[in-house]
Amino acid sequence: MSALPSASETVRAVLAREVTADQVIQEALGRAQAAGNLNALVSLNDHAAAQAAEVQQKVEAGEALALAGLPIVIKDNINLSGTRTTCGSRILGNYVSPYTATAAQKLLDAGAVVIGKANMDEFAMGSSTESSASGPTLNPWDQARVPGGSSGGSAVAVAANITSVALGSDTGGSVRQPAALTGVYGLKPTYGRVSRYGLVAYASSLDQIGPFARTAQDLALLMNVIAGHDPLDATSLQAPPQFRAGTPDDLRGLRVGVIRESLQGNTPGVEQALQDTIDALRTAGATVGEVSIPELKYAIAAYYLIAMPEASSNLARYDGMVYGQRVQGSDLLESMTLTREQGFGREVQRRIMIGTYALSSGYYDAYYSKAMKVRRLIADEFSAAFRQYDVLLTPTSPFPAFRRGEKTSDPLAMYAADVDTVAINLAGLPALSVPAGFEVVDGVRLPVGVQFIAPALQDERLVALAGGLEGVGAVKMEVAPGY
Ligand code: GLN
Repeated sequence: MSALPSASETVRAVLAREVTADQVIQEALGRAQAAGNLNALVSLNDHAAAQAAEVQQKVEAGEALALAGLPIVIKDNINLSGTRTTCGSRILGNYVSPYTATAAQKLLDAGAVVIGKANMDEFAMGSSTESSASGPTLNPWDQARVPGGSSGGSAVAVAANITSVALGSDTGGSVRQPAALTGVYGLKPTYGRVSRYGLVAYASSLDQIGPFARTAQDLALLMNVIAGHDPLDATSLQAPPQFRAGTPDDLRGLRVGVIRESLQGNTPGVEQALQDTIDALRTAGATVGEVSIPELKYAIAAYYLIAMPEASSNLARYDGMVYGQRVQGSDLLESMTLTREQGFGREVQRRIMIGTYALSSGYYDAYYSKAMKVRRLIADEFSAAFRQYDVLLTPTSPFPAFRRGEKTSDPLAMYAADVDTVAINLAGLPALSVPAGFEVVDGVRLPVGVQFIAPALQDERLVALAGGLEGVGAVKMEVAPGY
């Protein structure tokens, strides 16, 4: 199949009446069906064709919609009225959203059509998209491997040419890591940049919705639509989006700090991609140095001791009484117990138990409270690094896509996959995973990514930088072979 036009090109063609929104949406639905074996989508939107017809009417009436007729998929933890929102969980297997998340509403208002909901690790807890009640999503570069997670379905939709853009959510790496493992861009915005209203909560102080795309221009296009203050989310910020794809000029004089602690334990292909990126930056006139963030060694421990307590509290609402599926017992307590026992998968249960333990009296000070102190120290160290550097650079993941089943029986190994990403959520910063090369593993070419981190509210700088890297040929973007 030929490469899908970019989102920007699709919108241009629809507005220029070279193609109708209906045609574009039908094509996307066809591609979704053709790539069905990857299990990237858990449901298709029954209303997509009708919505495309409405968009087409607006286009014909002369409305210059920013996303006219653009097919998109969104992660299955983002509410869209009238569609199922399962969060990859049995407990929400029959849950139909009665309302629409702000980020999704902004897409619709701009003329985009959500063609389906993307597969994910259950309640966004995972790094491989293997724990979904709908089964695992396959990596299009090697179907025996995972696409990363938890937004694996969204990443694969873009990597396998189903749509040019997608939305995921990132609590500790869930947009950036699958982006790296499938060879596309993934942006985790500054905490508060995109409204969380209607995003099903995992760890509320860390969660952010973010886009996947194949060009910097498309990242800018999407962020200009979804970012901005929302009265329905008290943590959303007053920072009107001003995204644009940059040029190599954006690289000249840029001060880039490579985080020393991220240089160990990487595979040769990841090291090579990082070095190639550094070389390209220098050639383009950036200065590249090294900076240390010593507290990073505690990032994984602190992250899980904050994310799990928040999850245990957020997931208390799933008791079978109001939302989703109920397993009837002989009394109220037994009904709730059976519902949660049978509705939640193993990893979610593990996190609820550890999270509850870490919050319980007598352990709160030793675990949760200490993790919060580490969180502060990490944020302070990032601030200090930004006094010297405009952006920071690390690998996105220490390794390319791993095999399905490789880490499922070892939770700590799975958690360690996020070693390069979780600290950014703890500090609330924006970060972008950029496709930066390939590593051949057992004869198969697998994508690897690098991560740029910016000071809070400088998300725009990351997208400009990506455009600059494209301009100098440093972005290794390819659609997965066969798609
Ligand atoms: N893998 C991390 C976790 O399991 C991050 C997940 C995410 O960002 N949603 O918590």
